[in-house]
Amino acid sequence: MLPDFDQCYQILARRDQSFDGRFFAAVSSTGIYCRTSCSARTPLARNVAFFASAAAALAAGYRPCLRCRPEMAPRQPEHPATCASIVRALRLIDRGYLVDHRETDLATLVGLSADALNEQCTAVTGVGVAMLGKAHRLQMAKRLIDSSDLPLSRVADLAGYPSARSVQREIGRLYSRTPTSLRQARRRKNDRGSGEITLTLPVRQPYNQSWVFDFLARRALRGVEEVSPTCYRRLLKRDAQGDHWLSVNWLGDGFSVRVPACAVTRLATTLAGLRRVLDLDADSQSIDRHLARSSMLSRWVEEQPGLRIPGAWDGFEIAVRAILGQQVSVVRATDLANRLIDRYSNDGLFPDAAVLSRVNVAELGMPGRRGQAIGLLAEQVARGEMDLDETADASVLQDSLCRIPGIGPWTASYVCMRVARQADAFPEQDWVVMKVLQNKAPGCRRIAEEWRPWRGYALMYLWYASTQLAATN
Ligand SMILES: [Zn+2]
Repeated sequence: MLPDFDQCYQILARRDQSFDGRFFAAVSSTGIYCRTSCSARTPLARNVAFFASAAAALAAGYRPCLRCRPEMAPRQPEHPATCASIVRALRLIDRGYLVDHRETDLATLVGLSADALNEQCTAVTGVGVAMLGKAHRLQMAKRLIDSSDLPLSRVADLAGYPSARSVQREIGRLYSRTPTSLRQARRRKNDRGSGEITLTLPVRQPYNQSWVFDFLARRALRGVEEVSPTCYRRLLKRDAQGDHWLSVNWLGDGFSVRVPACAVTRLATTLAGLRRVLDLDADSQSIDRHLARSSMLSRWVEEQPGLRIPGAWDGFEIAVRAILGQQVSVVRATDLANRLIDRYSNDGLFPDAAVLSRVNVAELGMPGRRGQAIGLLAEQVARGEMDLDETADASVLQDSLCRIPGIGPWTASYVCMRVARQADAFPEQDWVVMKVLQNKAPGCRRIAEEWRPWRGYALMYLWYASTQLAATN
């Protein structure tokens, strides 16, 4: 995972931003660790050590740099060779799972023994689960201190510290500052009193923001999502106080995020959800390099580098919409989803599984079998029998979806790609794929073999290609 020392040192010496978050550089003479792009003077090689994660640098006794703020670096991209259980465990830790669960719960959930989980986590990040949990806790506390006016006791609660005093102690030890002086050092534009917070989400280049926003715009749900060329908003909740919107603005090299007060209590989950929708954790550099070797894709990769797979804010919603989208256009499928909200929702949000398990969606105008499939899916989700989430086991999810009459392999692959973030998912029965590749499904499957382990991203390039080919025909 970690390049050799000389390579790491060269990356550090040229302050290469594309390696931010992939590894960290720690300096023995100062006791501080940095991102690779830190503007501080390049330290002498003999004083530098490299770590695969911020947690590993912390475990070795280094303190985070106040200049480059390593806690704000993009997340380490998921390597396709990493075992699926570890990928799921790391996603769960990132969402704050360890704030209220034990390590053994995590191991059980991802189907490993505690020892195997620790061993494999160490192979990927340089440290075991407990240290990753501690690093996550510190990262959340620092973000909340930097971006909110929340009292320290609340920060402690949300980040997973036993008390305000323990946050104070940890911040003092690692930053040689008090939380108050850290706050004073940052000029914040936060609307004091509303409880809403603003923070930034970094982006690793290449990132094709216009592709992602265009994809989301064409599928936006009326009244729930609003998409302009540079802003994406999503309604999280509607109550007596009004509408609570989460909004994201494109800054050219990252995003500014406004989190409404109701979502601050679930900040780690909210940020993970946004990173999923915007697909911020993909390693586009490696993906594009791999796909550009294919004669069928090279032209499109060159034209539009950094295509991402917009993920699901809500897994159930995307699964229902995938069924609605079977054999119809995106416009028609979105129209059906909007009608579904108009008909069955009480608050203007997408109806949940319990509601949809009690109605016959086919009455909106679709083949009865499709309506039935949605009913069966909703029943299983409402009973807690299906996990439609990025932390689900994708192969289990694929099988359980295919067991529902009316859900075929196209829908299952599409859901695994957007909900479980399976980078290699490939619905070869997709009619756009068959058209662009001028082949039937088995032929498409054969052609796609060379695009593994990133066939989902190849699909995005094929979808892009079809819009270009349609424009020239
Ligand atoms: Zn630094």
